[in-house]
Amino acid sequence: MVLADLGARLHGALNQLSRASVVDDTVIDALLKELCAALLEADVNVKLVSQLRTKVKAKVKKSLEEAEKAGGREANKKNVVQKAVFDELVSLVDPGTEPYKPVKGKTNVLMAVGIQGAGKTTTCTKLAVHYQRRGFRSCLVCADTFRAGAFDQLKQNATKAKIPFYGSYTETDPVAIAALGVEKFRKERFDVIIVDTSGRHKQESELFEEMVAIGEAVRPDMTIMVLDASIGQAAEGQSRAFKDSADFGAIIVTKLDGHAKGGGAISAVAATKTPIIFLGTGEHLHDLERFAPQPFVSKLLG
Ligand code: GDP
Repeated sequence: MVLADLGARLHGALNQLSRASVVDDTVIDALLKELCAALLEADVNVKLVSQLRTKVKAKVKKSLEEAEKAGGREANKKNVVQKAVFDELVSLVDPGTEPYKPVKGKTNVLMAVGIQGAGKTTTCTKLAVHYQRRGFRSCLVCADTFRAGAFDQLKQNATKAKIPFYGSYTETDPVAIAALGVEKFRKERFDVIIVDTSGRHKQESELFEEMVAIGEAVRPDMTIMVLDASIGQAAEGQSRAFKDSADFGAIIVTKLDGHAKGGGAISAVAATKTPIIFLGTGEHLHDLERFAPQPFVSKLLG
């Protein structure tokens, strides 16, 4: 079930609630059953779904008891249930921590990490374009020496987007490249320096050691994990493994335009207590959407 289907199903469940003439336990249970089934089918972690059910029920019960005392009507009950559902869906994608926000007039170093093929190189260029359009002087550093053609790809993307870049065809040490690139652009007073790092096919200790070494060399203001939404439930384990070694402060979920269910990425937020900052919605430079929990849930519910 892709994200749009999840939204349609959640919307349908809430619609059913609006149409009910009486809001009793049967109606609420039916709503929660449909809601949870939809989330599970979208790959959201079973524990999170079960917690959501318990929390919505508890919130509704408490609010209804309070409303009853105040002589509440059916319409209010519906609002109470709808609000509880909305709030709990928001907290599912809101870890409660604010991501780093680049500041103009200083050098902000952002470092992207993730598995090979997750969309790091593409996302780095998208990010550079995003900040450039908002008045930040942005540039790219290619510290991916593992994947053949990575530098060419970044160079091609950067050239197309008119973003200055740094990389090397001869230097094989990614830590040295990252350090040199960041130093050069720092001296040139760029506002946003984005460092693209190597991925591997899976999370391997060698990759983690390299990420830590690059991190120590460039001291990023924000490390961003690029997470491919199409890997489904595996997103949770993968993000945990990266968090343990790279300790990223933000997530960008890619490939949400495809057949990705998205629930795995949602579970990754709770597993790592890290906010999603953008969604990748296509292969083109401008296919990047800002992410914020409340607008996301509002849009999802339609
Ligand atoms: P890297 O190995 O992590 O640097 O991944 P790349 O940036 O090379 O991306 C791998 C593939 O995913 C490329 O074909 C990209 O065009 C594609 N890709 C990246 N982000 C998105 C996205 O948001 N949507 C879609 N459909 N494709 C994407």
